[in-house]
Order: sequence, then C-alpha cells, then structure tokens
Amino acid sequence: MRIGVPTEIKVREYRVGLTPDGASELVRAGHDVLVQSGAGEGVGFSDTAYTAAGAKIAPDAASVYGDADLIVKVKEPQPSETAMLRPDQTLFTYLHLAPDPVQAEGLRKSGCTAIAYETVTDADNRLPLLKPMSEVAGRMSIQVGAHCLEKTQGGRGMLLGGVPGVLPAKVVVLGGGVAGTHAAEMAVGARADVTVFDRSVKRLAELDTQFAGAIKTAFSTPAAVEKAVMEADLIIGAVLIPGAAAPKLVTRAMLKGMKDGAVLVDIAIDQGGCFETSKATTHDNPTFVIDGIVHYCVANMPGAVARTSTFALTNATLPFTAALANKGTQKALNDDPHLARGLNVAEGEITYEPVAHDLKVPY
Ligand code: NAD
Repeated sequence: MRIGVPTEIKVREYRVGLTPDGASELVRAGHDVLVQSGAGEGVGFSDTAYTAAGAKIAPDAASVYGDADLIVKVKEPQPSETAMLRPDQTLFTYLHLAPDPVQAEGLRKSGCTAIAYETVTDADNRLPLLKPMSEVAGRMSIQVGAHCLEKTQGGRGMLLGGVPGVLPAKVVVLGGGVAGTHAAEMAVGARADVTVFDRSVKRLAELDTQFAGAIKTAFSTPAAVEKAVMEADLIIGAVLIPGAAAPKLVTRAMLKGMKDGAVLVDIAIDQGGCFETSKATTHDNPTFVIDGIVHYCVANMPGAVARTSTFALTNATLPFTAALANKGTQKALNDDPHLARGLNVAEGEITYEPVAHDLKVPY
C-alpha cells in the first residue's frame, strides 16, 4: 500500500503522523511511504531521517494526496486538504467532527473513508488514541502549574515541594482519570502535598492502591471540593463526563475565598472547562488572572511538547496504521471492532452515530 504523510498545516501544529521508525516498520512490511518534505522538521525529524528509513520524500501536499492510498495525519484536514481527498482513499487522523459541520460536509463530498483517532476503542471500551494526549497534558499540568506559582507569573511565590523545614504546596487534582493520575504522579515526584478527587469510588480505590499512601483521595462533592480549593495552592482540573460539558466544580464566587496567587490549571478546557471563570487560552498567552487567581487554560497543551507528543501518539497509532496497510482498510475494519469504532465517514455518509446526531445528518 502507498502511505502518505503530509505536513500539518493547522496553525502552530508541529506534530507529524508517522516517525522515521514508524516509516521503517511500514517499509519493511513491503509498503511505500511517501512523506512531504519538511513534515517532521518541527519535531526534529529531517527528510534525510525518513529517506534513511526507506521512505520517499514528496515536494508538496498535492503529491502526497495525489499518490497515497492511506493518509496518516495528526489534526483534522483543513479545507485545502479535504478538497484533495478521493473516494479510493482512507484518512486516519484526529477528526473531532461533531462540532465541525464544514469539515464533515467536505469529507462526505470527498467520498473518502475517514477513521478518527478519537473514537477508536480498546477492550475496556476506553479511547486508546486519546489516552497519550491526556498523559502528556496531565504530566505537563504540574510543570506549568509550578511555573505559574512563581511570583513573576502572578503566583504565590511557592516551590511545589518546599525545602527542608518548609511545607510543600497543596495540590488538588479534580478527576482521577488518565490526565489526573499523571498529574498526581508528577506532583508526588515534586514532593507536593497531593489530594485527588473523583466521583468514582472504584477509581479512588485504584488510586489509593497505586499510590500506596503518597496521595490522599477524596470523594468529589461540591462541599468537599470547595473546602479543599480554599486551602489549595495549585488546582488541576482533569474531570471528564464523556460526551458532556465539564461540570463547573470551582465557581466564580469561590475565587474570593481562595489564597491570593493560587493557580488553576484547567486541562478540561477542551470540554468547556471545570472552573466557571475558565476561557480557552493559547501557548502564546497562556494565563490570565481573576480575583488574584492565576488561570492556565490552554486547549492544546500537548502542542507545546510536540516531540514527546508525536512519539506518544504514534506509539499508539502505529499498530492500527500497520493493520490498515497490511490488510487493506475493509479487512482491517472487519477484523477489529475497536478500529471499526473509529470509522466516522464512508461512501459520502457519516457512519458514527453520535457525530451524525450532533450534526443532525442522517445515520
Ligand atoms: P478520564 O475519563 O480518564 O478521567 C476523567 C475523570 O473525571 C474520571 O475518573 C471521572 O470519574 C472523573 N469525574 C467526572 N466527574 C467528576 C466530578 N464531578 N468530580 C471529580 N471527578 C469527576 O479523562 P482524561 O483522559 O483524564 O481527560 C480529562 C480531560 O482532559 C478531558 O476533558 C480531556 O478532553 C482533557 N484533555 C485536555 C487536553 C488539553 O490540552 N487541554 C489534552 C488532553 C486531554
């Protein structure tokens, strides 16, 4: 099969859909890999690294889209890319179609088969191709939170772990799922005083066992969260109710009772945020202050660490990419119900029920 890897063109997207090692694996399996010149530059993969792996370099996106049977990407196709897709092609990438009728219409018109990373499932019915980005965002939240606690950033002027004879910062993590757990791991590593809240008693029990006393766990009720927030130095918002807007666990009114210079990092901002005062920010201007509380609300945190994120993402996607290449799209989908859950568009129709429902199109 001919596998095409175009350069990402969404603003400030540096990731790439396939690493040189991934290209090498596909070439060894007998496939042709065509990489757009410069596609990996943003994360340190030169064209030479891809050619050394056995890939060919294409001069522009039109050559990649023109030649490939399978297009492997990171972000949803932009209109100029959708226009190049054909009925005989498969697109494998993040799509996030539900709130994007323009893209959905473009993909339907193209006639291509579009498989979305974000709806592929695993044996536990979780989302294995979203998980790596939650891991990155969770770990990064402590890094950025620690920075925001510095005086020059508007923070309380505290070191997360304190020093001998000085108490550590109090970190409250709201939501003990993938992102929250990775946040807790980094906070524990920095020697902070960490409490994780969740609504799932089962999840709290798992965390209690996993951390073996290194964190405190607490059941998330509005009253318990409010009490903890008043005493916290750094609060990480990592809740998710699948398919719904994030619940507002910290209200505007609560900010006045919080410690001056405390920091909120709202990882859940891509679902609307779990702090009432959150609004999405960018890496160029990541924070703002309300009532003395520093807010960090970047909606694409993994973009800042594009190299780590590329490895994390492609580690998870490569087995599926290989299955699509080795078996052909139809057989790969027939053989693997979890990959089949990723199918969002085929033969001009939306094939994923929740997306069709949100877009109000036939399913
Ligand atoms: P997850 O499903 O693994 O975990 C969410 C947890 O929240 C679950 O354990 C759930 O029980 C808990 N929860 C639900 N309601 C709660 C409440 N009221 N109080 C406390 N806990 C509650 O989800 P995840 O993969 O960790 O993702 C978390 C959020 O981070 C999602 O919104 C995701 O889209 C977002 N995310 C953002 C970025 C970014 O760059 N900003 C990157 C990756 C993920």
